[in-house]
Amino acid sequence: PAPGELLLDVDRVRKQFGGLVAVNDVSFQIHAGEIIGLIGPNGAGKSTTFNLVSGVLSKTSGRVSFRGEDVSALASREIARRGMSRTFQHVKMLPDMTVLENVALGGYLRSSAGMAQAMLRLDRDEERRLFREAERQLERIGMKEQMHELAGNLALGPARLMEIARALCTDPALLLLDEPAAGLRHKEKQALAAVLRQLKSEGMSLLLVEHDMDFVMNLTDRIVVMEFGTKLIEGTPAEVQDSPEVRAAYLGT
Ligand code: ADP
Ligand code: MG
Repeated sequence: PAPGELLLDVDRVRKQFGGLVAVNDVSFQIHAGEIIGLIGPNGAGKSTTFNLVSGVLSKTSGRVSFRGEDVSALASREIARRGMSRTFQHVKMLPDMTVLENVALGGYLRSSAGMAQAMLRLDRDEERRLFREAERQLERIGMKEQMHELAGNLALGPARLMEIARALCTDPALLLLDEPAAGLRHKEKQALAAVLRQLKSEGMSLLLVEHDMDFVMNLTDRIVVMEFGTKLIEGTPAEVQDSPEVRAAYLGT
């Protein structure tokens, strides 16, 4: 995408779980090259919004367009194929396989019709291509040295990076990360931030759902703040930090 191109247009998306309005007509946009943060107190509707955007949950109403195409009705796999990739809050891995195998397999499952077909159709050329791509993405995020380690032996920081490498295998224009810094130690957070900045410098756009205020403040171009399912405010990190409503809602001061 050209820098500044409108990538993601979230237009009044809504999700009701029975009588509970978890996401109440929320709108925001992401342009190519931006890192956007989505923050708010627990239960604000961040994860639900994220799932609506990535097609993991169906919307009660509203519209999501990606690169000019209405993707509201598409399944998550179809959305991923169009260049929007995501990670999940809890690391998903096959602990007895190597980092490289985890990334290669994840890349395949994202780009194909599923496990059964993966088994049937995986010819040698395709397999080689997948492993080359997985290796390339691990090198890109600085994990090439660890690619032959068992995934189950990784600390949480490298495990999160492995998940990012896997999401990168489909060559996304937009990467959605669900609480990537949660539970990480200071050093690991710094390493993660460096990788995310590098991806941005390579032209990628990112949407981060995050609890860690400092992490979001230092990394993002713009922040969307949610409370009780609605968008409270949107602005630069400085604007959000100075907003009395945000201090009241989010920081409790
Ligand atoms: P956040 O990620 O900001 O903490 P969530 O999006 O997870 O918030 O949740 C928003 C609200 O929707 C919460 O009140 C939560 O309990 C509710 N909720 C989330 N998922 C479901 C579900 N599958 N069924 C019923 N209620 C849900
Ligand atoms: Mg959540």
